[in-house]
Amino acid sequence: MEEAGDVVFRLDRHGDIIFASRRATALLARPTALAGGTLATLVCEADQAPLAAALADAAESGTARLIEVRVKTPDAEVWHELRISRYVDPQDVAGLLVVGRDMTIQHATEERLRHMATHDALTELPNRLLLSDRMRMVIANARRSGQGFAVATIGLDGFKKVNDGLGHPTGDALLRVAAARLRKTLRDSDTLARVGGDEFVAVLPGTATEAQIKLVTGRLIATLQSPFEIDHHTIYIGASVGVAVYPTHAEDEVRLVALADAAMSRAKETGKARCVVYSPSEAGPPAHDISLEAAMFQAVREGEFLLYYQPIVDTKTREIQGFETLMRWKHPTLGMVPPARFIPIAETNGLINLLGAWALKAACVQLKQFEEVAKRPLYISVNISPRQFRNDKFLDVLDDAIAFSGLLGGQLVLEITEGTLMIDPVHAESILSKMAERNARIAIDDFGTGYSSLAYLKRFPISVLKIDRAFIRDLPDSQKDGAICNAVLDLAKHLDLSVVAEGVETEEQLHFLEQRGCQYIQGYLTGKPMPANVALAALKESIHVKVVPADLRQVSQ
Ligand code: C2E
Ligand code: MG
Ligand code: MG
Repeated sequence: MEEAGDVVFRLDRHGDIIFASRRATALLARPTALAGGTLATLVCEADQAPLAAALADAAESGTARLIEVRVKTPDAEVWHELRISRYVDPQDVAGLLVVGRDMTIQHATEERLRHMATHDALTELPNRLLLSDRMRMVIANARRSGQGFAVATIGLDGFKKVNDGLGHPTGDALLRVAAARLRKTLRDSDTLARVGGDEFVAVLPGTATEAQIKLVTGRLIATLQSPFEIDHHTIYIGASVGVAVYPTHAEDEVRLVALADAAMSRAKETGKARCVVYSPSEAGPPAHDISLEAAMFQAVREGEFLLYYQPIVDTKTREIQGFETLMRWKHPTLGMVPPARFIPIAETNGLINLLGAWALKAACVQLKQFEEVAKRPLYISVNISPRQFRNDKFLDVLDDAIAFSGLLGGQLVLEITEGTLMIDPVHAESILSKMAERNARIAIDDFGTGYSSLAYLKRFPISVLKIDRAFIRDLPDSQKDGAICNAVLDLAKHLDLSVVAEGVETEEQLHFLEQRGCQYIQGYLTGKPMPANVALAALKESIHVKVVPADLRQVSQ
């Protein structure tokens, strides 16, 4: 026992120490106090009761017990695992044998592992995992106390430029300093987590009124606005903040963060370096699509959105006149997510402004390449959602796309729906005239499905009507659809508008439309939406044969 590397004690049946090994006395550095004392006095207070219970249990049951306690040494508390067993000495006196093993290293390792699993390695802040734990706790408290709290998502403005321009080590250093500054502006009871490259989330218990939110987020924004001195560079960045409030906006942690995230995107779109509180008046995304919504933000960062191009073809010559740009989301596990699923979500959370601006610019640039290959002018049609149309920045976005791509006026067609025009006709009129000043042409998409008044056709500067697929599908058999198509074509002729029939799938439909003077069609018959490289191949071929070759028409949806 004396030579054992472990700490060994023998206790008599009252629990008093009757023997302590050399190692034990060395550890405790209290040789004289040991004999006759009790084990309880050697461990820290919190462990005394469990230890007493374990000793009693081992003495009574005769089976060995294991317990971890903190042993008090002169300089520290040291974790030990005690193995307690009953023993009977040669004189038949029963007592307990306690063998203790130093657990410091194991505990440090465990602690380190736990820390690594729940913290961000770069900034040492909690990660998403710990954030959601903490949020659940804060929500439970808030529910009990009836006091709301705010969740703020903080996105650094212009971080990518730093990373790309000055290199990742500088970017990392900047993030570390930014994290420290944010942490310093918050209270100890607030949680600050890093949840993405340049994105942080702050959970602010007790901050729920507008004034409180303004104060805290104002400080967060201000602290990132002062310049950063890193690696001899003076760097200016900023932060956009989005806020969602429990329980006003949502009651679970996933949705709260998603809504704060959506508000932050809006802050970025509307000028950056500001805070936007989520607005419930614009209905939030449907709850079941929250995961899709969260994935969308990630997808934007990862560049999972792409553009397909569907040919718009002249009915007489079958020559490609241009393309409609249709957005696709290539999700890593869900595959191609159709726009019908993600556009409505992007529309409610504001992401559409970002995606739409990108699509517009990319489409204009793409058109240049199409034209180079086709060696003739072409059109490019881009869908503009109602929310984009209403956004005050839209004209800037348009100017930027035109200037960047060097498009000449008249080649860009902006597709809007009747509904978009009807939300606020006065505003629409002024925007449309400004679009017309920039030589962009306006097409009414899904014509016939929206609004029943035709007066707006006279009032607004519109160039193209796109007859909705629904009226084409049952042609030429359906007399009613035939009558509607006739009427639209007639109307267009008198108002001097072009017509594109959407969703033409058969030769019969094409024939019917062509006979009635419909100049353009768009549909699977003449080409499905296709990636840019396939569209380019089609254009190359079409220099000789004009129509889209059959094998390229069916490429992909
Ligand atoms: P849309 O603007 O009316 O686009 C035409 C839709 O009809 C496309 O669906 C196209 O793939 C489909 N289509 C074309 N020809 C045929 C055909 O012969 N048969 C059938 N069955 N379908 C045909 P897609 O690509 O799924 O897009 C759906 C809608 O999503 C679009 O309707 C548009 O409203 C919206 N969308 C797509 N891309 C964008 C975008 O970049 N921005 C905005 N704001 N909306 C977009
Ligand atoms: Mg369209
Ligand atoms: Mg349409």
